Amino acid sequence: MESCIFCKIAKKEIPGTFLYQDDEVMVFKDIHPVRKFHVLVVPKIHIVDTGAVSEVGLFAKLFKVAQKIIAQEGLNGKGYRISINGGGAQLIDHLHMHLMAPVTKTTKM
Ligand code: 5GP
Ligand code: ZN
Repeated sequence: MESCIFCKIAKKEIPGTFLYQDDEVMVFKDIHPVRKFHVLVVPKIHIVDTGAVSEVGLFAKLFKVAQKIIAQEGLNGKGYRISINGGGAQLIDHLHMHLMAPVTKTTKM
């Protein structure tokens, strides 16, 4: 998509601080981190949000890459959160998973 920021990052038209990339998925630092560690796990193809995904294997790929980052960054034991906004809650209309750490247990039941 022409004006999409994450498509531009995928095409290297604007810079990103990459932790990982392959043919389908990229991981780069969020420009406004809300935790010490905050990256975005993003498919390179333009898909608006979770509801627009037709190939469910894409979810497996995104989580597999998230697992790699969790191991690589030693996040087990530190506590992390994965979140995905969609349905109009997202700021950027290109599917992405937030992976943030450290995160402590919430007491809400
Ligand atoms: P959303 O609300 O769509 O789930 O989150 C979008 C995220 O993208 C936000 O956390 C925001 O800080 C991040 N973001 C927005 N523009 C850029 C950018 O140009 N580069 C990077 N690295 N992150 C961005
Ligand atoms: Zn896009």
